Amino acid sequence: MGGKYVYDFEEGNKEMKNLLGGKGANLAEMTGMGIPVPPGFTISTEACIYYSANGDYPPGLADEIDEHLEGLEKNMGKKLGDPDDPLLVSVRSGARASMPGMMDTVLNLGLNDKSVESLAAKTDNPRFAYDSYRRFVAMYGDVVLGLKPETKEERDPFDELLEGKKDEAGVSQDNELSAEDLENLVGRFKDEINKRKGIDFPQDPAEQLKGAIVAVFNSWDNERAVTYRKMNNIPSDWGTAVNVQAMVFGNTGETSGTGVGFTRNPATGENQVFGEFLMNAQGEDVVAGIRTPLPLDKLRDELPESYDELMRIRKVLDEHYRDMQDFEFTIQEKKLWMLQTRNGKRTGFAAVKIAVDMVDEGLITPEDAVARVEPEGLNDLLRPVFDPVEKMDAQKQGRMVATGTKAGPGAATGKVVLFASDAHKLKAQDPDAQLLLVRHETSPEDIKGMAAAEGFLTQFGGATSHAALVARQMGKVCIVGCAALDIDYENRVVRIRSGDKVHEVKEGDWLSIDGTAGEVYLGQIKTLPSEVEQVLFQKTLKPEESEVYQEFERFLGWADNVRKLNIRTNADTPGQSEQAIAFGAEGIGLCRTEHMFFGGDRILAVREMILADDEAGRRAALDKLFPMQKEDFVGIFRVMGERPVTIRLLDPPLHEFLPHTEQEILSVSNEGGMSVGEIEERNRSLVEANPMLGHRGCRLGITYPEIYEMQVHAIIEAACEVKKEGVDVKPEMMIPLVGSAREMQVTREMSVRVADEVIAAQGVELDYMVGTMIELPRACVVADRIAENAEFFSFGTNDLTQTTFGISRDDVKGFMPEYLEKDIYEVDPFQRLDQEGVGDLMRMGVERGRKTRPDIKLGICGEHGGEPISVKFCHRIGLNYVSCSPFRVPIARLAAAQAVLEE
Ligand code: ADP
Ligand code: MG
Ligand code: MG
Repeated sequence: MGGKYVYDFEEGNKEMKNLLGGKGANLAEMTGMGIPVPPGFTISTEACIYYSANGDYPPGLADEIDEHLEGLEKNMGKKLGDPDDPLLVSVRSGARASMPGMMDTVLNLGLNDKSVESLAAKTDNPRFAYDSYRRFVAMYGDVVLGLKPETKEERDPFDELLEGKKDEAGVSQDNELSAEDLENLVGRFKDEINKRKGIDFPQDPAEQLKGAIVAVFNSWDNERAVTYRKMNNIPSDWGTAVNVQAMVFGNTGETSGTGVGFTRNPATGENQVFGEFLMNAQGEDVVAGIRTPLPLDKLRDELPESYDELMRIRKVLDEHYRDMQDFEFTIQEKKLWMLQTRNGKRTGFAAVKIAVDMVDEGLITPEDAVARVEPEGLNDLLRPVFDPVEKMDAQKQGRMVATGTKAGPGAATGKVVLFASDAHKLKAQDPDAQLLLVRHETSPEDIKGMAAAEGFLTQFGGATSHAALVARQMGKVCIVGCAALDIDYENRVVRIRSGDKVHEVKEGDWLSIDGTAGEVYLGQIKTLPSEVEQVLFQKTLKPEESEVYQEFERFLGWADNVRKLNIRTNADTPGQSEQAIAFGAEGIGLCRTEHMFFGGDRILAVREMILADDEAGRRAALDKLFPMQKEDFVGIFRVMGERPVTIRLLDPPLHEFLPHTEQEILSVSNEGGMSVGEIEERNRSLVEANPMLGHRGCRLGITYPEIYEMQVHAIIEAACEVKKEGVDVKPEMMIPLVGSAREMQVTREMSVRVADEVIAAQGVELDYMVGTMIELPRACVVADRIAENAEFFSFGTNDLTQTTFGISRDDVKGFMPEYLEKDIYEVDPFQRLDQEGVGDLMRMGVERGRKTRPDIKLGICGEHGGEPISVKFCHRIGLNYVSCSPFRVPIARLAAAQAVLEE
C-alpha cells in the first residue's frame, strides 16, 4: 500500500498548497468556511510526481480514488455513469503556483449517449443536456484524446464544427442553438474523433475518469507548461494536483450563469467588486470571449438574490484571506456556487491602496502591508500615465505599431527628434515642447538632449544600455531594442515595420511610448503626471488633495519604521538632490564630479587642462574650474543640509573629455590656441586600448595630484562656506578605484593636507571623512589594509561586477542575451547583484574592513543599490546604507524594510 494520495475538500485547508495545489487547497479552505462549494476531492501532487516518474498510478491510488468517488456519490445522491440519473464531475488541474491556462480541465465528465437522454428527460431541458454533452466531448477530445490544432494556421477542429453548425442554423451565438442542433453537433464531434484518431468516443465513465486524470497529470509536462515554468522559475518537480468535483451548471437557462471577479479592483485597488459574467454559460465562456460578458453590476438586475449572496461572499473571502481575491463562480438556477479563489494579481497602484486600506480596515498590520507590496510596483505611482481612455482608442484604431524592451516605465508622448542636440535646442526655444528622442542608441554626450526629451526610444541596446540607464537615473520613459524601427538619419525619418505595413514617421511627427508595457503608438496620446510628483515637485497638488500621495507617504512611513538600512541617493546636481530628499533620501551616496565637467563652458576649461603639456598649464586651467566646482558643491550642500554627502573625486579616463569630431577639434583649436595637429596628437597619446582598466580613478589623482587637490579644495571650501551659514554639513570624499593600501594612503594624505589647510584658512570647524569606493576584487581582499586609511567603503558594484566577471558592461550585447537564454547566468549580474561571486567579495570586504576599523561606514553606490533583491542582500551582509538614483529611493526604502521582515 502507498501513502495517502486523495483528500476530500473537507480534509484540506489553504496551508496545504504543496500537497493539494493552490486550487485544491483553496477549495478545501472555502468548504471549511461554509461557503457553497460543489463537493469533491483532490488527488495530491505526490501522485502526479509518482506518475511522472513511473508512467503509472502509485500503488493504492486507484482504490483511494474509488473510495472517495463513492463518498462523493453518496453525498450527491447520484452515481457516476448511472444511466438514469448520472453524477457529472469536473476534473481540474491545479499546481502549487497558479499557472493560468497552462494546464487542462475537463467539464461534464460522466455523460454518454444514454445518460445524456435521461439528463434531458429528468431536467426537462434537452438543450442543457446536449449543450453539456457537446462541451464534454470537445474538451475530452482536446485534452484527453489530443485533438488539437496541429499548425498555427489550423483552427480548433471542434470550434470549426461549432461555427459550421451556427451558420447552418442561422444563429450567431452558441446559446441560440437548439437541442437538436446540439445533439447533431455531438454526432459530428464524435465522427471527427473517429476520423482523426480511429477510436470511438469512450462511453464508460470509469474509463473517462481515468483518462482525464492521466491527461491532467500529463499536462504538467506539456510544452506550454514547461515553458511557463521556466519563465517563472517554477521547479519541474512540484507536479500538479487533480481536483475531481461535482458539476454545477451555469448553462441550464436564463436563471443560470457563470463569471469571474476580484474582491477589489485589481487596477485601482478600489474596495469594490470587479468582474464579469455571462448568463446561460459554462466554464471558460467568459474569458474565451465567445460572447461579450457583462459587468458584475448587471447581475444585480438579472438575479438580485444571487448578486447579494455573491457580495456577501466577496466580503467574507476578502476578510478571511486578508488579501484581494480573484474568484470564479457559477450560478445554477439562482443558487450561487464558488469554484475557485486565490490571491489576485494587481498593479502597483492597487497593491499600495489595498495594503493601506486593509490596515485601516483592521485586517492587517502595517508590517503585513509592507511585506506584501512588490517594491518595483512603486514605480507605478511615480510614472506619468496615458489617459486610459485615449490609449484604448489608439489601440482600437490600430495605432499600436511596435514593441520593445521596457526600460523606463511610464507614458510619454512627443514630437520625434533624431538628434540630442536638436532636442536640447528645441527645448531651449520652447520650454513647453514635448519631444521624444528616437535613436539607434544614445551616448554620454546626448545627456542634455535626453534631459530635454519626455522619453527615449532606441532601436538597439538592452536594459543596461546607456539609454536605459539614464532613463532610470532621470526617471524618463524609455523603450530600448525596438527592432521594428529603421532610422534614416539623413532623410530624418523613422520607418516602423508593423506586420506587412511600413509606417513613416517624420521628424516632428507625434509618437507615443508606453514604457510600462513596452509599446509604441503612432500619434499623440494625452498623459497625466503621477500625483505623487504633482505633490512633491510641481506642487500643483496639495497633499490633502491626492489620495495616492497620502497612501504613498503613509505606506513608506511604515517601511521606514521597520528598516535598518539608511537610504541615500546618487545625485550630481542640487535639483536631483532635492528630488531625492522629497522621495526620502537620507544623504548622497555618490556625487559624480565628472558630470559637472560637462556643463556649459566648463568642458572648455577641462579640455584646456587635459591638453596642457605641463603642471603649470594644468594648474592654470584648474584655477578656472575651481570656482565652478565650488559653486556646484555649495548648491548641493545647501540642499542636503546636515545629511552626509559623498563626493567621488574624478574617475573617468581623461580621453572621454577630449574633442573627437573634426568640428569639435576645430572649435577647441580656435579657443585655446593649439593647432588642430597638436590636439590630434594629444588625442592619440591619450587613447587607451582598454580605458576601463586604464589611466583612471585614483591613478589620475596620483599622477596628476593637482586635479584632486583642486577638487578637495573646492569641496572643503564650499563646505566651510555653508557651515558658516549655520548648517552642519557632512562632506565625505571618496577616492575611486583603489586597489592597494598605498594608493589609499597617498590619496588620503593629500586630501587631509589640503582639507586641513582650507579649514584653517576659513577659520571654521568642520568634520569630514575620506574613504574609498571598493570596485576591484583586490580591494576586497586587502580591505583590512585599505581600511587603515579609509573611514568608509562604498561598494561600487557596477565596476566591481565588471572586474570580478572580467566583462566590460559596454560589450555584453554580443553574448548576454544568449547567456540568459541558455541559463548560463540566471540573471544579468549588472541588473541584480551576483551574490555568489561579487557578493562574496563584498562580504569579505565588509569583514576585513571592520576588523581594522570597527566603526567603518559601509554602503553601496552601484546601480544594484536600487534593485530590491540586491538591497536585501546588502542588509544581510551588514551594510549601513544603500544609495540609488532618486526615482529608486522609495523602492529601496521598501526593500530595506522587507529585508528586516524576512529575517
Ligand atoms: P483554470 O485553472 O484554467 O482556471 P479551472 O479548473 O478553474 O481551470 O476550470 C475552468 C472553469 O471551469 C472554472 O472557472 C469553472 O467555470 C468551470 N468549472 C470547473 N469545475 C466546475 C464544476 N465542478 N462545476 C461547474 N463549473 C466548473
Ligand atoms: Mg482557465
Ligand atoms: Mg480557474
